[in-house]
Amino acid sequence: MKVLVLNAGSSSIKYELFDMSERGALASGLLERIGEQRACLTHRLQEGANTHASVREGKVDDHREGFEWIADALGQSGGIANLEGLIGVGHRVVHGGEDFKAPAIIDAEVIDRIRGQIPLAPLHNPANLVGIEVAMASMPNVPHVAVFDTAFHQSIPRHAYLYALPYSLYEEHHVRRYGFHGTSHAFVAKRAARLLGRPLEELRLVILHLGNGASAAAVVNGRSIDTSMGMTPLEGLVMGTRSGDLDPAIIFFLSRATGLGNDELESMLNRDSGLKGISDQNDMRELLRLAESGDERAKLAIEVYSYRIRKYIGAYVAAMGGVDAVVFTAGIGENAGEIRARACSGLDALGIRIDPKRNATRGNEAREIQTDDGKAKVLVVPTDEELEIAEQTLDCIRRLSA
Ligand code: ADP
Repeated sequence: MKVLVLNAGSSSIKYELFDMSERGALASGLLERIGEQRACLTHRLQEGANTHASVREGKVDDHREGFEWIADALGQSGGIANLEGLIGVGHRVVHGGEDFKAPAIIDAEVIDRIRGQIPLAPLHNPANLVGIEVAMASMPNVPHVAVFDTAFHQSIPRHAYLYALPYSLYEEHHVRRYGFHGTSHAFVAKRAARLLGRPLEELRLVILHLGNGASAAAVVNGRSIDTSMGMTPLEGLVMGTRSGDLDPAIIFFLSRATGLGNDELESMLNRDSGLKGISDQNDMRELLRLAESGDERAKLAIEVYSYRIRKYIGAYVAAMGGVDAVVFTAGIGENAGEIRARACSGLDALGIRIDPKRNATRGNEAREIQTDDGKAKVLVVPTDEELEIAEQTLDCIRRLSA
């Protein structure tokens, strides 16, 4: 019983093949630089605890050819990870707008509705659609399921998703908070409940997904009630290269002061801001190393980054009327103890207190890092967005056949 998860970007396709009876990965890979002179497919075959990586390079004209490469790689994997026994394909789709509150079996109508959300995600949804169309053509005999980054946050109430703008902008242009990283927040919320040995339905969680992109979510009884990313992924926490929260008037100021146009400003806020904007470096490992060696900008970037997280923890504890656990996940959340410590420093009044020794312990397992007397739990929970997409795909297919 296998499920293939596909995440198609404009020039890349990420994939992972799961055996759903074991909930384990059989193979995974990334094809990059589609349409350029030299594309590169890195394929990883899982054999027990061992991973065998292989690399293929050459020209890949388009996503259709890309899928042929991926199917070849999966098929050549010694019969272990081939597509025999495939029961469905799960597609990551970035924006489902208000249309999709749950995963959907893809048919012509669903494709039209995903296309309808393109104005909200002009870069991502078209690439996701190309991936869907090509994969459906090459694997027509299994159901394909769309799993949306935004769907988990569709439970956010009106007072939290509406911006204080003229209401007609919401009605006519769908301007509101949607939120992203939904599959990660959903996955981590379930794992956190399992680690705590308590039903998700009675927990108030602040989840901090800190990767290159970063977002916080307030999750009450398993439902998202607020999240820091907004109509686009630009709002909220400081990220690798995105500014996060900003006085909107800065944009008009900059437009007048620098003469930069909309596209240039948008690119600056998305690609040249955040950690990179402050310190010229967006990789947290490198920043921590630089700060250790006395680099003042690196220290400043880390301070601004951590302070923003702390502010959001406080805001979400207030929004939820208390907190049972603060949960850290993704590259920085899972690995950077120093950032976790800074983000939670001074939060004793909220019952949030990290134990330095537990925080310093490394590992790939979900774990608790609060002090024995901390009222709230503080958890590190590795995320697995691909596995969550595979699980939601399987659920969706089972509901269809029930
Ligand atoms: P993406 O959003 O691309 O999936 P990841 O979740 O992989 O990103 O997170 C990438 C970030 O995690 C980078 O800033 C990287 O430096 C940071 N990171 C990864 N490992 C460590 C580590 N051991 N210590 C500190 N930061 C780390």
